[in-house]
Amino acid sequence: MGERVSEATGELSERLNKWYRKSARSLFEKGSDERLKLNIDLITSLHGKQVRIAIQRSVACPDCQLEGGHLRINPSIPAAQWADGCQRCAETGRVTRREELSVYVPPGGDKGDKLKVSQKGSEGLNGAADGDLYLLLTPADLPTGFKRSGSDVELNQQVSADLLTRGGVLSIQTLRGPLNIKVPKNFQSGKKLMIPEQGFPLWSDPTQIGKLTVCLRAI
Ligand SMILES: [Zn+2]
Repeated sequence: MGERVSEATGELSERLNKWYRKSARSLFEKGSDERLKLNIDLITSLHGKQVRIAIQRSVACPDCQLEGGHLRINPSIPAAQWADGCQRCAETGRVTRREELSVYVPPGGDKGDKLKVSQKGSEGLNGAADGDLYLLLTPADLPTGFKRSGSDVELNQQVSADLLTRGGVLSIQTLRGPLNIKVPKNFQSGKKLMIPEQGFPLWSDPTQIGKLTVCLRAI
């Protein structure tokens, strides 16, 4: 009887050992870098904002990670279930876990800009380095009439022919709020007025603000 039991245990250990060897490589794997699209609204593009995001992150399987060089087997799982390796992660050493992150998005982000969140890519297994997460910024469409070009913004504004002839003060709505601009006398329809610091901050240096070009067209 005792022999039979020890035989069965021996067979199980051998199968387990085989599985340890097979999965040893992936158990020390470095986490890979991940990319994720992040939609940002106008306020975030203009002023920057702390945002909360939820990600599905590849992390170490909690049932079969190594501890101090020894495979840790979840003691609540019957030994027989380990004969074919870890069922929880199908022997990949990884599972997906939902994580919430709070990330500061600096001002000036445009389509194609990337924001690096260090060590929030795939988790490294058993002490190997974590990957990084790159958020690919996708800004919201601008209101009708506005066009962005880098940090500069262009606005097509319809005005009365009378205002263009007589000149005067025109109230417009910029991306940053209402603004009064001075229209010189005999201003030609289709000509542009440049207003500094009414565009977007530069992504590389947010202290630099782009300009707003207003193209006035007679109705
Ligand atoms: Zn596992």
